[in-house]
Amino acid sequence: MSVVAERPVAASEIAVENPATGEVVGTIPVMSAQEVAEAAKRARAAQPAWAAIGVKARGEVFKRAQQWLFQNEDRMVDCIRSETGKTTEDANLEFAIAVQAFSFWAKNAPKYLADEKVRASSPLILGRSIRVRYAPVGLVGVIGPWNYPLVNAFGDCVPALMAGNSVILKPSEVTPLTGLLAADMMKAAGLPDDVFQVVTGAGETGSALVDEVDFVMFTGSTRTGKKVMQRAAESLTPVSLELGGKDPMIVLKDADLERAANGAVFYSMNNGGQVCISVERVYVEEPVYDEFVSKVVGKVGQLRQGSGAVGTTEVGAVTFTPQVDIIKGHVDDAVSKGAKALTGGEAGEGPGQFFKPTVLVDVDHSMSCMTEETFGPTLPIMKVKDADEAVKMANDSIYGLQSSIWTKDIGKGQELAERMESGACCINDAMLNYGAFGAPMGGWKESGVGSRHGAGGIRKYTKTQTIMANRFAMKRDLFMFPYSSKQAERLGKMLKMIYGRGA
Ligand code: NAD
Repeated sequence: MSVVAERPVAASEIAVENPATGEVVGTIPVMSAQEVAEAAKRARAAQPAWAAIGVKARGEVFKRAQQWLFQNEDRMVDCIRSETGKTTEDANLEFAIAVQAFSFWAKNAPKYLADEKVRASSPLILGRSIRVRYAPVGLVGVIGPWNYPLVNAFGDCVPALMAGNSVILKPSEVTPLTGLLAADMMKAAGLPDDVFQVVTGAGETGSALVDEVDFVMFTGSTRTGKKVMQRAAESLTPVSLELGGKDPMIVLKDADLERAANGAVFYSMNNGGQVCISVERVYVEEPVYDEFVSKVVGKVGQLRQGSGAVGTTEVGAVTFTPQVDIIKGHVDDAVSKGAKALTGGEAGEGPGQFFKPTVLVDVDHSMSCMTEETFGPTLPIMKVKDADEAVKMANDSIYGLQSSIWTKDIGKGQELAERMESGACCINDAMLNYGAFGAPMGGWKESGVGSRHGAGGIRKYTKTQTIMANRFAMKRDLFMFPYSSKQAERLGKMLKMIYGRGA
């Protein structure tokens, strides 16, 4: 890494550690509200010219950024790994999603942002042309979490920039280096100065950013999301919040159990279980419960832990130090209330911070492992009588990010999916809808406000303007002054003729 701490960390700096080794890999300054305000001023000055070049030209910048990513793949992947402690494969996956997203927005933003023609819906405005245009909001503040510093922090800057805004990113203080490297990438790709900036620091810097921008895109915990929304309300700044989850997986008795077990293990343990949309709890129909648990335990037992080279480890480090205690707290709470840990159940060996892949059984909703976001490599599995009970338990949550249903009967899966209280539901998959960039991804209930991806994922960074033009303007419209009884009669007749026979 280029930013290496060689001196003691001052109070105005934060040390960035590699959680897989404990080594300090960089330091970042804690930027003050004043510095954030200055960055915002520069960003606002740079924005009009960036908006004026048009969406296609902005797409060219991202195509060049994509080429830069390929030329600097090792550098980017190493940077992500150095501050998250991920396995190489998990970092490669993050890289792959970013590369695809750049293409997606460069290709689709022109379509999503194109002016829309609207037909006159009232006889009183016949003959007018009506168009809706999507104008950039101006300055967007993106505040990101630590689990995917490229995809969930910088990734949300891409549509915001493509919409013609300037963007200031406040990456997590735990993983800020990837955001800083992304700034180098955008500069190399020819993005004009100050259109994209990174401000570093912790919560206070994030809070200062909320005060400065025209739109806040926040990804992080539900607790912080509420604070951000409260703060933004003071200036009536709109927000989009992508928050925590407790995604349920339902395994029906007719499921392909081998695939379901592979899916349960992968989607709960990849990225060390630190994925907002990871499988956090499983409900299995009684007749197949024992077989499913036995398959899962066999597979989890074979997982290798560490942040090694390609093909050597499956489950990486716990990126954020306090998370180890949260994971342990959920496991201990469950065990103290009668659950059994069939694998793991404790922190892994250092150096670095790890938690052993853990399968919990005999769990219920009195336990935090089934109700609170664990965000670690744990898999609690609960036996249910039937599909109805599974859906009821799955929906018994303050969260509603995603869910999955595993069955060979796709029709039944579709029907149950509509009963799930979640922003997305996969049948015989989990998480993969994130890669469907054309479809909205967002949470219900306390998992979020708004969504990313699709048309809405870029239009949220714009303000609509309706422009109506009257090319064939008459001297006087029927409804104009002076009022008269004849005029009222004519208008009344017209209304009756058009609408009087029912819709
Ligand atoms: P966090 O809420 O602790 O922090 C997120 C960001 O907010 C950080 O950059 C932090 O510095 C900043 N922040 C803290 N206090 C702030 C304040 N008062 N005002 C403004 N900014 C403030 O979350 P985290 O621990 O970094 O990330 C993990 C969480 O993120 C999990 O709950 C996970 O589910 C969620 N997440 C959600 C999605 C999604 O798409 N829904 C994606 C990734 C992560």
